Parts: sequence; C-alpha cells; structure tokens
Amino acid sequence: MVGKTRIQKKLQLLVLEGDGIGPEICREAVRILNVLDRKHALNLEIITERVGLKSLETVGSTLPEHVVDLAKAVDGIVMGPMSTNDYPNKNNGGINPSGTIRQKLDLFANVRPAKSYFGSLGSSKKGIDLIIVRENTEGFYSDRSMYVGPGEFMPTEDLAISVRKITRSASIRIAKIAFELAQVRSKRLTAVHKSNVFRLSDGLFLESVRDVKKNYPDIDYSEQIVDAMAARLVRDPENFDVIVTTNMFGDILSDEASELAGGLGLASSLNYGTRNAMAQAQHGSAPEIAGQNIANPTALIASIAMLFNWLAIERNDPKLDEAALEIRNGLANMISDVDARTRDLGGHNSTSGFGCGLATYLEGQS
Ligand code: ATP
Repeated sequence: MVGKTRIQKKLQLLVLEGDGIGPEICREAVRILNVLDRKHALNLEIITERVGLKSLETVGSTLPEHVVDLAKAVDGIVMGPMSTNDYPNKNNGGINPSGTIRQKLDLFANVRPAKSYFGSLGSSKKGIDLIIVRENTEGFYSDRSMYVGPGEFMPTEDLAISVRKITRSASIRIAKIAFELAQVRSKRLTAVHKSNVFRLSDGLFLESVRDVKKNYPDIDYSEQIVDAMAARLVRDPENFDVIVTTNMFGDILSDEASELAGGLGLASSLNYGTRNAMAQAQHGSAPEIAGQNIANPTALIASIAMLFNWLAIERNDPKLDEAALEIRNGLANMISDVDARTRDLGGHNSTSGFGCGLATYLEGQS
C-alpha cells in the first residue's frame, strides 16, 4: 500500500463508468463531486478509467490489471454498473469488475440502505428505513469465492454443481459490522438465514452471529428464515432496522427492500473492508434505457454520500460528513419536487437535467 501513504494530501477518487447507463450517471456524479470539492475544499483528485465493454474493445479486457492496482492505491472508488451478462468468458477478456475488485480488495461488507425518504413514492408502504448488511465475499457467488478455480462445475454434460461457501471468520466479521451499525441506530438486529435447509452452512453463519451477539447485550436480536423475511419486508418492513445476512440472500432482499422504498433508481450502497471502500448503486446497467439521458443518477450519488461518511472516519475529516449530509439533503430536495424527478419516479427530467438541478441547488446552499 505504498500509494496510500504517498497520496494522503489529495483525496483520490477512482471513477469507473462501466456499461449501459454507467457513463451517464457517472457524469452527473462527477459534476456533484466537483461542486462539493469547490465548496468544501475537499482537495479531490478524480481519476477516470475505462472498465467493461469499452475497455474490452480497446484493450481486450473488461478489467485491465492496472485498474485493479489503481483501485487498491486510491482513497475511494466510484463504480458504475456493469453489463456482465454480455461479457465473454475470462479467457476472452470478460472479467466481472465489481466482483473482482470486491474480492481483490477484500471489500467484505456491502451495506445497502432502503429508506423511503420520499414518502410512499413507488411503494404502498410508508416508513421503511432499514439497512441490509450483506456478506460480500463468499456464499453462492461461485465465480469468486474459491482460492483456485470456480465453485461451480459440471462433472457430466447433464449435471451442474454449485458450491456455497460459508466461513466462520467471514460470518463473524460481517456480524460485527452489523452489530456496530445496530448500536448507532435503533439497536435492533435481525439475522436472515435458511438454516432449516442449509443446516451446516447457515448453521455456521448463525452460530457465528450468535457468538458476536454476546458482546452486544443491549441489542434486540432476532432471526428470520429468508422466505419469511421476503414476505415480511412487504407486510411490515417498519418492524426491521438492521438486517445481516449472507451474500446472495442480501443481494435479493436488498433489491426487494429498495423497490418497496421507492425504486432501484434511489438505492445506494457501499462496499468496504478494512482499507478500501467502493460506492456503487444497487442497480445494474439498465441497457434498455442506456444512452437516452433518462436514467436516474440518484442511487450512485447517494452511494457517494456513504463513501464520504466512510472517508470522514478514515481521514478524520468532518468536512466529508458535511458534504455527505449536503448530498442527502440535496437529493431529498430534488426528489420532493415532482418536476425535478426522472422518469422512473414518474417525472420528465433528464439525467443531466437532474444533475444540473442538484448542482445548482448545492451551489446555492451556504
Ligand atoms: P443487472 O442484471 O446488472 O442487475 P438489469 O438491467 O437486469 O441489470 P437493473 O439495471 O438493476 O437490472 O434494473 C432493472 C430495471 O430497473 C432496469 O431495466 C430499469 O428499467 C430500472 N432501473 C434500474 N436502475 C435505474 C436507474 N438508475 N434509472 C432508471 N431506471 C433504472
């Protein structure tokens, strides 16, 4: 981590635009970063690198090696969405940038809030305000969970097997993140599992979470089976606050929660480990609306607010917390105005119109 000491003065952010709507929403995210940099003297240095299909075209890989090195060295990463379904196999340059960076930088925690800041917009429910803490390095993600080779294989042409990996150490460290979060929120934590079926793997996950729980006696702790949890998120999401779960359950439940909270266009997330963090919207590359200037950049911009909060602690710099708060207030202000909303929220604003509107709002705030 030579780079990390050398670059302490500047706050280096690596922006990886990705595929589909990625370049459009990243452009607006950078616009907002520049406004906040001027206002708060954040001393940002924004580095943009190509990953995904454009980089496959130009250098033959969706994730060139130098980008991984850069990702390790900078202070924070802003990752656009990827069309990984359209990538060729690894031998032909198709590497999942998001999965690989999570793995190589050991970004083991994926924190995904679902909050209906905007009333019941896009949802029949009011008052959803929860955080899903998703283990980010193992579980069912067979393309990245093994030391050598994939955790998925075909012994015969009619038999496919996937291996689900759960370790005590990964379960303990994600549980600690979740209990710490619960501590500063409403002190309620729910562990989600399927240990009635995955007796060994989810059994180990639960055992680990219960071990960590011993250090947090004031937390109101409960457990839910994943299918029941999916139903309860629809029925009574207000009864949940912090939810901790394994990788794939977290991925699925967070999309459900975000949709209930107003839509994927609003759903932010942060991936982090002990040294690095990556802001990344929960949604994918939405190729059917790419290039039309209609995508909602909110999720990515709100993810940057999460990154700023993480960096504020890392760098002991309260200016970054102030900037994060401004982003959130600015987004809430924009979305409360029907005319400022993008189409996914029932408005008519363009991606760039939304970004410019938010920039103007932020510039006007003292
Ligand atoms: P992936 O497979 O990578 O998850 P996807 O296109 O199947 O990608 P998403 O992009 O996550 O799935 O989202 C599903 C749909 O939600 C999109 O097709 C699009 O209609 C809508 N959507 C997602 N993100 C946005 C956004 N930022 N702005 C507007 N609409 C969005």
